[in-house]
Amino acid sequence: MSLSAFEDEARQLDAADPLARFRDAFLIPPHDGSDMHYFVGNSLGLMPRATRGILDEVMRDWAQHAVEGHFAADNPWMHYHGLVREPLAELVGAKPLEVVAMNTLTVNLHLMMVSFYRPRPGRSAILIEAGAFPSDRHAVESQIRFHGLDPASELIEVEPDADGLISHARFEEVFGEHGQRIALALFPGVQYRTGQFLDIPGLTALARKHGCAVGWDLAHAVGNLPLSLHDSGADFAVWCHYKYCNSGPGAIAGCFVHERHAGADVPRFAGWWGHDPATRFLMKPDFVPAQGADGWQLSNPPVLSLAPLRASLDLFHQAEMGRLRAKSLRITGFLERGIDALLADTLEILTPRDPARRGCQLSLRVRGGREHGRSLFESLKSRGVLGDWREPDVIRISPAPLYNRYADVVAFLRETLAWRDRR
Ligand SMILES: *Cc1c(COP(=O)(O)O)cnc(C)c1O
Repeated sequence: MSLSAFEDEARQLDAADPLARFRDAFLIPPHDGSDMHYFVGNSLGLMPRATRGILDEVMRDWAQHAVEGHFAADNPWMHYHGLVREPLAELVGAKPLEVVAMNTLTVNLHLMMVSFYRPRPGRSAILIEAGAFPSDRHAVESQIRFHGLDPASELIEVEPDADGLISHARFEEVFGEHGQRIALALFPGVQYRTGQFLDIPGLTALARKHGCAVGWDLAHAVGNLPLSLHDSGADFAVWCHYKYCNSGPGAIAGCFVHERHAGADVPRFAGWWGHDPATRFLMKPDFVPAQGADGWQLSNPPVLSLAPLRASLDLFHQAEMGRLRAKSLRITGFLERGIDALLADTLEILTPRDPARRGCQLSLRVRGGREHGRSLFESLKSRGVLGDWREPDVIRISPAPLYNRYADVVAFLRETLAWRDRR
């Protein structure tokens, strides 16, 4: 198949795309007088047009009402974090009681480990994947040290198979060997480097069978794949909202705590906003946790950070995760076919070939080493095709079904071919 055949197919697919109108809900950065081909929703999603208005509303209420805004604002700040509860629960497949938007990802990971990493003699280790995102590894290692333990023995890192991915059999092997001494298993929903989507219910069941607490870091999974967190049975999950959820740089993050812990006396680091709202303002010294994930809140919520999340969740609600996934499978599959047909001599796909084992991202190793890779990356960027770079030789390309077009994928293929043919 030639490039022009892919161009024809892209025109047809874009014309028939039932989600095409959602692109207009976003501000697409310009490049040379037209739209940038933006494939970095896995790092920072684009800005929804509605965000500015929702932020303006908060600014206006602040100017007009000052402290009275807690009650007198159009959407009173006292209950503002409740506005995202239902759409957030819908997005991650949880009960409303099980989710809360608060803090940032790594902070929430620490708070969850305070509650769910409870080492005891004989069962004191944490399992993570080798090559985990550095913040997760730092958090896990520092929690182990915080308990006076030694990461050299208490941190179990699961090495990938020969293909760079981690199979279910590999996990079974590790749990078979170490399951008894693992206090907490922390899995990535989508591994950020390879783009592998892990089997959330399957691995949760495996770890729970071995008596471990189970947490998920869903930074690269939320807004990318349909999730059923409640049914998975995981103890907790954490994620951010600035990647696929388009809620802006450093956006407020998300947290899931399974219903079975909702009314339980789980040890935690507490703050006044986690106190039962019915009696919070009696300002008594004793801590009575709110039911569910809300009981892990510390501070009164950052309303200016919650506002963009409302705009973003509204788009996911309208578009529906099932329909987004259907387009995601098609557009990432289109990218994969284009690479296989036109660029197999230039790029190696590191992400699983089975669409069920990946989200929208393809991690592409540039053949010929780092210099080649950097040259291609810079060339694409100068032509308005933006992916992201991972040392030493990987470009990640993530077509986001909310705003990417098949024409963007064709631009990537065309500009990569042009770079190859110039060399
Ligand atoms: C993006 C990402 C982070 C970033 O953490 P912040 O606390 O939001 O800065 C951490 N872990 C993973 C796996 C990520 O993908």
